[in-house]
Amino acid sequence: MAKYLAALDQGTTSSRAVLFTTDGQMVSSCNREFPQHYPKPGWVEHDPRDILDTQVASLREAVRLAGINPGDIAAIGITNQRETTFLWDRKTGECVGNAIVWQCRRTARMVDDLVSRGCGEMIREKTGLIPDAYFSGTKLKWMLDYYNLRERAEKGELCFGTADSFLCWNLLEDRPHVTDATNAGRTMLFNLHTQDWDEDLLKLLDIPRACLPRVVDSSGPIGMLDPAILGCRIPVTGMAGDQHASLFGQACLKAGDLKNTYGTGCFMLMNTGAEPVRSRNGLLTTMAWRIGGKPVYALEGSVFMGGATIQWLRDELKIISTAAESEALAQSVPGTGGVYLVPAFTGLGAPWWDSYSRGTLIGMTRGTGRPQIVRAALEAIAYQSADLMDAMVKDCGKKPERLQVDGGASANGFLMQFQADISGIPVVRPKVLETTALGAALLAGLGAGVYATVEDTAAVWKKDLEFTPKMDEATRLLELGGWHKAVERSLGFARD
Ligand code: ADP
Repeated sequence: MAKYLAALDQGTTSSRAVLFTTDGQMVSSCNREFPQHYPKPGWVEHDPRDILDTQVASLREAVRLAGINPGDIAAIGITNQRETTFLWDRKTGECVGNAIVWQCRRTARMVDDLVSRGCGEMIREKTGLIPDAYFSGTKLKWMLDYYNLRERAEKGELCFGTADSFLCWNLLEDRPHVTDATNAGRTMLFNLHTQDWDEDLLKLLDIPRACLPRVVDSSGPIGMLDPAILGCRIPVTGMAGDQHASLFGQACLKAGDLKNTYGTGCFMLMNTGAEPVRSRNGLLTTMAWRIGGKPVYALEGSVFMGGATIQWLRDELKIISTAAESEALAQSVPGTGGVYLVPAFTGLGAPWWDSYSRGTLIGMTRGTGRPQIVRAALEAIAYQSADLMDAMVKDCGKKPERLQVDGGASANGFLMQFQADISGIPVVRPKVLETTALGAALLAGLGAGVYATVEDTAAVWKKDLEFTPKMDEATRLLELGGWHKAVERSLGFARD
């Protein structure tokens, strides 16, 4: 009986591989960074060869570090940075150019054009997404236009894919051209309701269906790892975009279950069950996963400046030397003394959606110093997350029982306690913080029959710490009121 599950976690700045036992203990992990390319202001690219090389190297190294026989790996799951767009030749496998990364803004005008032609509502209704250059659709259109490849794409000579597709094509036997439903859901070409590529959207962006991958479930047989990689064939039976894998790895399996990942940015997802919920508060409707052909949906919101706010304190203001130091400094004072930092350095996302708001530090007095500012920065991460949660509650009409957390900044005890206080619900941190990799491994384990049911995967999730809300309601509302007043001051500042 095979004893291990492997996750390939293809991220924006590095490729990771993590090995778990089937009861969810991490055995080994390996991380390989790769270069980012910025050919023009606002453009971001990855060299596809770097993605493959670092992913294969990290998997081999993780297996070596664990000292296990690769034949003891029951299944592999793939999780990935979402939306990043690859286009390659179906015969040679050669990419037509670098991958266009989700952060790349080169198609912003294309999106403005779609919106000014009145297509925004159709896109929102079919895909659950707010039209943006972030998603793959316009990136693929850009590649087909720029390299003049539409005719070849129509003849089926080219393959489009996100990182999941690209890895499957290159690492699996028989080169399957597939993507899973969660990744498909981030292309702006996939209809959430029909669970298929949408003819109207394909027409709108002039994308030939012949270049699109087959959409598969997030859990179930996809193919076998090419024996050239680890010396044996291993079933690949799980695949999901990073935030979806993390929702699964946090065992947020029921409608109303909620997780927040505190990384560079924060990503909050709420499972909304079998029906997609249309947000009235600026959130995206997205797939949670699709298992056994049954779609489960989620609401998603993100905070642009999460842990990055702390990096800013460290690298630009230079008032801390490590991110971890922020915790003790924040705790060295009883409060910020009425100071709020709105880290709208690149505008604000949901629920505000104001690309003209800018960073604002307000409420300072003569006594304001380093600890107050550091504390205000940590509180800002929690306030922004609380606003996302509030938008989700408004959309679903139900307050979640708890918030499950992960990501680098979830190590900060002050931040987690303040999050519990300001949101008024318990914040729960699991033992395994690598929830993205764990989620991919669990999806793979489920797909390979290691776990009999979705519910069985939840048994693997273990609580580490729970932060219970301690702030009284009057203080909570007062603090939130102050925050919202500060946000208002930041809105629209960079207009004109
Ligand atoms: P990503 O996956 O986006 O690269 P990580 O999950 O690795 O992010 O988290 C890194 C982020 O978390 C950084 O922005 C860093 O500033 C922040 N961070 C790490 N440790 C702490 C801490 N103890 N307190 C606050 N922020 C932290």
